[in-house]
Amino acid sequence: MLLNLQTTPPPFLHDTYTPRYILLSEPDCAKKRSQAYAHLAKCNLCPRKCGVNRLEGKTGWCLIGERAKVNVIAPHFGEEPCIQGHHGSGSVFFSMCNLRCVFCQNHDISHQRNGMDLTPEELGDWYIKLQEVGNVHNINLVTPEHVVPQVALSILHARSLGHRIPIIYNTSSYDSLESLALLDGLIDIYLPDFKVWEPSTSKRLLKADDYAATARESIKAMHAQVGDLCFTGDGIAKSGVLVRHLVMPGLEEEGAKIMRWLAEEVSRDMFVNIMEQYRPSAYVGKERTRGRRKEEVNGEAAAAGEGEEGRGEEKEKKKEERRYAEINRAVKGEEVESVRKAAERAGLWRFCDPPRHDGFNI
Ligand code: SF4
Repeated sequence: MLLNLQTTPPPFLHDTYTPRYILLSEPDCAKKRSQAYAHLAKCNLCPRKCGVNRLEGKTGWCLIGERAKVNVIAPHFGEEPCIQGHHGSGSVFFSMCNLRCVFCQNHDISHQRNGMDLTPEELGDWYIKLQEVGNVHNINLVTPEHVVPQVALSILHARSLGHRIPIIYNTSSYDSLESLALLDGLIDIYLPDFKVWEPSTSKRLLKADDYAATARESIKAMHAQVGDLCFTGDGIAKSGVLVRHLVMPGLEEEGAKIMRWLAEEVSRDMFVNIMEQYRPSAYVGKERTRGRRKEEVNGEAAAAGEGEEGRGEEKEKKKEERRYAEINRAVKGEEVESVRKAAERAGLWRFCDPPRHDGFNI
């Protein structure tokens, strides 16, 4: 599983790697601790800018207060090969989110307040367990945008206990520059999604019309902190940015715009994962109830003497009224291909493809 050194230019290789949080000075750590508590006392950490005091148990749009709520903590094997490696990525799935994507592929975690409430110290103790017992390659913080102060404090606590593996910030990109400044020096790899481009699309599907503008600003700030994705010789990513784009049905032109922007405004050496696994989920394809229960509809049809036939027509009508019908299907091969072609035309060249050599796809 060694890198193919002929296809990986030296700028993207580390001889050895020391996580950034280990290199922070003690005064910088103390400063970050006090900044984290200040943010919790008046939370404007994400573009929702709720301004609530989370230390007093108040919650804003994300519905999470002082303690992070964690749904799953475990070695995970569903990530890119250069992230999961052979031992897995030590994933921490946070409950809730500051977006409300109607198609959320993880909605059982991100739309529901299920899980354990953990202090930053308890969270940091879990990172150590994942490192020591799970032998994972990294800690992967999934959907952390709304718990950035807690995450910052947990990393500082783990550092004091001898944590030494890279930290990944796995985000929707709906972050603020303030929260990314708090994370500067604590995060080794940023794993941002860039979902859609048009404000009208993000308003309808993500419930945030400023999503793309925010994602552009955030991804630029992430890249300014850690640069392009770099590996050690074992094929495992250690630092940099890896952008993910889930191709959506009928939205391939938005995907193409995202690829052009990445190449022209951030870096032609950006490592990109163009994903094809979209499936209708969460609210997509659900029947519109319009306040009427099924029995009522059937009852009306029976009273009108329509019987089975009438009910069949009603069913057909309802099918047409599925929610978010425009994305109620799998994505087509040609849609994925057109985003990929647009990326190549724009000059991007580092993709998450199956390897053409023995080893990982770098
Ligand atoms: S993190 Fe939560 S409370 Fe803070 S601004 Fe965002 S949605 Fe509001």
